[in-house]
Amino acid sequence: MAASSLPRPGTKYGPCKGTCEHTDCAATRAMAERNCVGCADQIGYEQRFFREADGSLLHMKCWSPTFSTGATP
Ligand SMILES: [Zn+2]
Ligand SMILES: [Zn+2]
Repeated sequence: MAASSLPRPGTKYGPCKGTCEHTDCAATRAMAERNCVGCADQIGYEQRFFREADGSLLHMKCWSPTFSTGATP
């Protein structure tokens, strides 16, 4: 489980601030707009998050040892 974070729009490695046609920017924006499976808020920018094995996203701050999307109830 690797942690990553998204650079804020307008920063060196971030997407363009406005709308644009770049696929990289679109991909970054799309990921930032996805919801955390822990708190249901958007993943957002400059927040550390995990990508679960099933592809769902989870803030590092929302992770807990008892929380796992991969576990079967
Ligand atoms: Zn762009
Ligand atoms: Zn969260």
